[in-house]
Amino acid sequence: MTHRTSAAFDSDFAQDAARWLQDNVPQRWREHRGALEEQEAVEIRRQWDRQLFDAGYSGLSLPKEFGGQGLGLSEEVAFSELAARAQAPDGLARIGRILTAPTLIVHGTEQQRQRFLPPILQGTETWCQGFSEPGAGSDLAGVRCRAEKVAGGYEISGRKIWTSFAAYADRCLLLACTDQNAPRHKNLSMFLLDMKQPGVTISPIKQISGGTHFAEVHFDRVFVSDDELVDEEGSGWRVAMTTLMNERGGVEAASRYVEIRADMNLLLDMCGDDPRRADVLADLDRRTELVRWQISKAVHLENDDAEFVRATSILKVLWSELWQEITTVGLRHTTPSHRDHWRVQYLESRSASIFSGTSEIQRNIISERVLGLPR
Ligand SMILES: Cc1cc2nc3c(=O)[nH]c(=O)nc-3n(C[C@H](O)[C@H](O)[C@H](O)COP(=O)(O)OP(=O)(O)OC[C@H]3O[C@@H](n4cnc5c(N)ncnc54)[C@H](O)[C@@H]3O)c2cc1C
Repeated sequence: MTHRTSAAFDSDFAQDAARWLQDNVPQRWREHRGALEEQEAVEIRRQWDRQLFDAGYSGLSLPKEFGGQGLGLSEEVAFSELAARAQAPDGLARIGRILTAPTLIVHGTEQQRQRFLPPILQGTETWCQGFSEPGAGSDLAGVRCRAEKVAGGYEISGRKIWTSFAAYADRCLLLACTDQNAPRHKNLSMFLLDMKQPGVTISPIKQISGGTHFAEVHFDRVFVSDDELVDEEGSGWRVAMTTLMNERGGVEAASRYVEIRADMNLLLDMCGDDPRRADVLADLDRRTELVRWQISKAVHLENDDAEFVRATSILKVLWSELWQEITTVGLRHTTPSHRDHWRVQYLESRSASIFSGTSEIQRNIISERVLGLPR
């Protein structure tokens, strides 16, 4: 098998990108990101999105006709890993770029692409993903947030939860039920909802790690126009599957790999000389490189949807559970000077086996689509 990620690292593209990142990652972020006030951190992240666009690093794998760079997933993944190594900010435009843009390229109208893609790529409009609800996370088809037809559009009423970046979002890629009597999977529709209007209430959720990364969002008769319906009424499940396939791709995993590798190296520094832990550390170390190998495999399969879904489901389970094991061992054997680091990483890594589909759901996919087991 060709290791496309490695090839991408030898390319002129990767060398230019590494140089650009070295010169442009804000010093303040590199040195103080854990200690910044929220407002300053948000401003740096917004500014970073604009810098990425100006330098031609936004929408790397999106077609040129839609304002992207026309490169492949290979370059997108390589850039994600290089940016993580350079300790670049995690831009706020990420959900728009990774989820909304590819979804609109497949299912949007020409008018929607013209209206929404440029500000996503330029980093001037921030998006959130309104899929999960209190009773509909893994069972996404059970979405109950209602969209009622009114003149010129729909009125949205209901509740979404765990909505990342909702507090900063201008728009929401929202999955809602347009027909409560229609069969499952045929009753949903996808909307491009304006978050800055009356009837949208955002309640931040405080996480155990201290951050407020996501929120609960209430919609009380919020208007979306017919022009903001993606594809056709009733096609929301199909549209959502396109979104989720992009969400579970290798871009997120590539930056996580860098974080996991750094944690693994710290663990080796701390306990690498201890013969009682040699087997455990060797196993974790091997699996860290397996994550990178599986990213290469997913990239290699990017043009085969069925194989790509299989490879990325395995990848998600691999990296999320490995990171949890490494941080558990790290916290257990930490020296006093590293205690804060391991505490934060331990808590942060707990959510990794939940977002973008839990480990159990990924295992269901693996058992059915990779192993061919009966449902
Ligand atoms: C950090 C973070 C960010 C997130 N950001 C967003 C966001 O921006 N937008 C958004 O829409 N959502 C977001 N989510 C929500 C996420 O998608 C859901 O938490 C996830 O899909 C699980 O749904 P749930 O929380 O309702 O758990 P449930 O679906 O209630 O699951 C509870 C438990 O039951 C298990 N389970 C459920 N069904 C099955 C089954 N069929 N077989 C086996 N086991 C099963 C699950 O694996 C889990 O262990 C985020 C979550 C996290 C942690």
